[in-house]
Amino acid sequence: MSPAAPAAERVTLYERWRKIYPLWLEGGFQRWRRVVLLVLVGVYYAGPWLRFDGRPLFWFNLAERQFTVFGATFWPQEFVLLSWMLMMAAFGLFLVTVLAGRVWCGWACPQTVWTLVYFWIEQKVEGQRTQRLRLDRGPWNRRRVVKKLVKWGLWGLVAFTISFTFVAYFLRPEVLVQKLATGTLAPWEQFWLALPAAASFLFSGVLREQVCFHMCPYARFQSVMFDRDTLIISYDEERGEPRGHRSRRTDAASAGLGACIDCNRCVQACPTDIDIRDGLQYQCIACAACIDACNDVMHELGAEPNLIRYSSQHRDQGERIYWLRPRLAGYGAVLLCALLGFGWTLENRVPLELDIIRDRGRLYREIWDGSIENTYSLRITNREQEPRRYAIRAEADFPLELAAHDGTQILVAPGEQKVLNARLTAAPSADVHGNHAVRFVVETLDAPHYAVDEESRFLAPRGG
Ligand code: SF4
Ligand code: SF4
Repeated sequence: MSPAAPAAERVTLYERWRKIYPLWLEGGFQRWRRVVLLVLVGVYYAGPWLRFDGRPLFWFNLAERQFTVFGATFWPQEFVLLSWMLMMAAFGLFLVTVLAGRVWCGWACPQTVWTLVYFWIEQKVEGQRTQRLRLDRGPWNRRRVVKKLVKWGLWGLVAFTISFTFVAYFLRPEVLVQKLATGTLAPWEQFWLALPAAASFLFSGVLREQVCFHMCPYARFQSVMFDRDTLIISYDEERGEPRGHRSRRTDAASAGLGACIDCNRCVQACPTDIDIRDGLQYQCIACAACIDACNDVMHELGAEPNLIRYSSQHRDQGERIYWLRPRLAGYGAVLLCALLGFGWTLENRVPLELDIIRDRGRLYREIWDGSIENTYSLRITNREQEPRRYAIRAEADFPLELAAHDGTQILVAPGEQKVLNARLTAAPSADVHGNHAVRFVVETLDAPHYAVDEESRFLAPRGG
């Protein structure tokens, strides 16, 4: 008789979502994380209200396609600056990752920052880890319903303030307050108030670190940037192993035990529910909670702290630490180039734009006295915050005269665009034939002085 086959185990294709109940810790790195959190959240909330020289410090005015950053206004045409900024952000992040690992994830990523805010509310309402576990495993009685409603209500409030601030960056907070007070929000404004609130509630309140595991692309590829000197959170295996429970009176050395008492507190503190003693894992967001948890335990035992610590692979293996590494130098060099490119573009930026459209209906006009006339539309955009008066002139390799209905000087309001219909006339004495280059120059009449020019064509009958 053949032996009975083992009972088949049913394995689901999809991992079930498991709620994590991390410990809320005080002290150590967590205190500093909360300071960073307060600064970042403060900057986010204050951003739309801050003004500089009477103008908003940040305003992404989509309706008029103007973007104000640190008081300076940019237009979509200035995408070169945006490209430099994106390059700086990307390579700055790469450089920090090579140096300090996932410090961005654990300390400054908006998902982490808002998750901490929601978590703070949760532990204030529902209590510490064991109380939260007991509450969720218990029946849906009055106490549980009340606690959940209070928590969700407070989360909703936070979500609304996040959304309000987000929309205020685009719409101005005064306008948003007035529209909310009078109930005159347009449907798209209501949509954009609801969407970030719902996303924040779901991602930072409910899903939390699941977003880092399953949705964040950066979490997936950043480990390829690590080298053996990158700062990581690691467990000092040499000192900690062999781990094991013991009584307070046990002498670890004579019992053949290492420093780890296998209390599991580092796992309970971990928001991603991993055991850092198993080595570096992609789920680790470098929040340093396990360091604080273990240091608390070591303190209680009267042992040396930092059984779990910030370290690097070279340091763990007692090898030499290199500060100047090829990857670091490479990212640093690209970042420096992007910084220089950004600075140069900003320094040489001319806040004036000129577009010339030739009259396509008629190539040229012959006047009764033999003069030749061409007509153009000059579109002049003032990209400054002040009204500006400009002078317009035309240059060519033959004498010509520029004329416009309202004269060859024009006043353009800040952020406005004006169209000037201009005529270029070549007198018979110029004896001009065929197709010639002509250059229009627009320059400011008052300080600071700058000018832009653009080439067009002047057409005349061919010579016979
Ligand atoms: S292992 Fe430590 S540092 Fe990594 S996520 Fe968990 S608690 Fe944070
Ligand atoms: S908190 Fe420290 S002592 Fe406790 S299990 Fe973790 S590493 Fe070991």
